[in-house]
Amino acid sequence: MTALAVPTVWVLGDQLCRSRGALAERMPGECRVLLVESAALINSRRWHRQRLHLVVSAMAHFATELRAEGFDVDHRRADTPQQGLRDHIEEFGVDVVIAMEPMSWDARALLERLGVELVRSDRFLCHYDDFARWAADRKRLTMEDFYRWQRVRLGVLVDEGANGPEPVGGRWNFDHDNREPPPRDGRAWPSITLFELDDIDRAVIERLPSATFGADPDGTWPVTRVQALARLAEFIDSGLGSFGPHEDAMLTAEWKLAHSVLSSSMNIGLLHPEEIVEAAESAYREGTAALSSVEGFIRQVIGWREYVWGVYWLWMPEYRTRNALRAARPVPPAFTGAADTEMACVAGVVGHVRDHGYAHHIERLMVLGNLALTTGVNPWAMTEWMWASFVDGAEWVMLPNVIGMALFADGGMMATKPYA
Ligand SMILES: Cc1cc2nc3c(=O)[nH]c(=O)nc-3n(C[C@H](O)[C@H](O)[C@H](O)COP(=O)(O)OP(=O)(O)OC[C@H]3O[C@@H](n4cnc5c(N)ncnc54)[C@H](O)[C@@H]3O)c2cc1C
Repeated sequence: MTALAVPTVWVLGDQLCRSRGALAERMPGECRVLLVESAALINSRRWHRQRLHLVVSAMAHFATELRAEGFDVDHRRADTPQQGLRDHIEEFGVDVVIAMEPMSWDARALLERLGVELVRSDRFLCHYDDFARWAADRKRLTMEDFYRWQRVRLGVLVDEGANGPEPVGGRWNFDHDNREPPPRDGRAWPSITLFELDDIDRAVIERLPSATFGADPDGTWPVTRVQALARLAEFIDSGLGSFGPHEDAMLTAEWKLAHSVLSSSMNIGLLHPEEIVEAAESAYREGTAALSSVEGFIRQVIGWREYVWGVYWLWMPEYRTRNALRAARPVPPAFTGAADTEMACVAGVVGHVRDHGYAHHIERLMVLGNLALTTGVNPWAMTEWMWASFVDGAEWVMLPNVIGMALFADGGMMATKPYA
């Protein structure tokens, strides 16, 4: 047993950021870093292969990068996260374990029970305590109100006017200028560069459990910060300009259209929303992307994403049991691949999920969500299926989107009426 009196910083699999949270101010030698690959989590669902690979590989890459920086890293496998922590404490004689506030209700409760010191999370631009204060005196928590509040307090796309901050371009919302149908001139959609799989990726793929589904990882999803930054730059250069006009479009033959495909990188910590928003706003200020596109994109990131993060923490833990429409059916076999379907749009979206572990927002909401809503699929069953099937799945973002937005299972806490 080594007996160095340094604290341990426990980095969870969706907290892979060097410059935020508990690792932010730490230098090598000041702490030991723990990452636990938990068999219980790996075997908890029938994961999409690209999803499982993404998290396991990104953790392994993160451990390698920290070691290269000089950190003493204990990246261990264990039956459960708590077993991993116990084994680590026993092996290294650790007194103090520190972690950034986890991203889920259950993980936060677990770490609190285990006596881990929690450092305030700065993974979002609005911490859930600040969201709760914003929400406190409001009858209705409208996303648009929250979004404008975020714009002003963060100084995003606002200019100083005679009476205080004013929205750039004179309007808060440019949706009216967006929502064009897909072009029919055969033009190519912005392409993305695939990342070459390395030895770490290949080793992870080799040991993916057989109880997984979907196409094998092909380098679509960034597993390191360097890759995620490259993907961000590529989107700003070639995707952002088309984002607005086509954000609500849907084509069977094209899986991502002009969407950013940045959610998985943000959700596991490889990118921070702040840098994404700064890059998008700069593109507008430098004249390389239209305001309507930039505003539409920024609304998704500082509006919708932060809003669902806030309501998740505000409404948990009761929220995940909501089932206002008493929907009880299982997830349709057409979604899980257990049966074919003659509904072309469903087959198309399910194909995108199978091939990429991804479907864009309109496909999730209007195709998968609407079919589940109208056929009475149980909200928790739908949440679990989507969580396992999408590379960007996580409880905090699934619950408001599935229970609130897609299935109206919260009876109107989030959406004013069902989408179907
Ligand atoms: C039923 C349903 C399930 C969903 N499940 C998830 C999920 O598991 N994980 C997830 O990250 N998003 C989820 N979303 C939200 C949204 O569909 C995805 O964030 C988006 O499709 C990711 O693709 P993108 O990065 O190309 O997004 P873009 O269209 O390029 O949008 C940019 C970013 O905005 C954010 N964003 C946009 N809309 C939302 C939203 N409604 N909620 C939260 N963030 C949003 C995302 O971070 C996204 O990366 C879900 C939506 C629905 C309707």
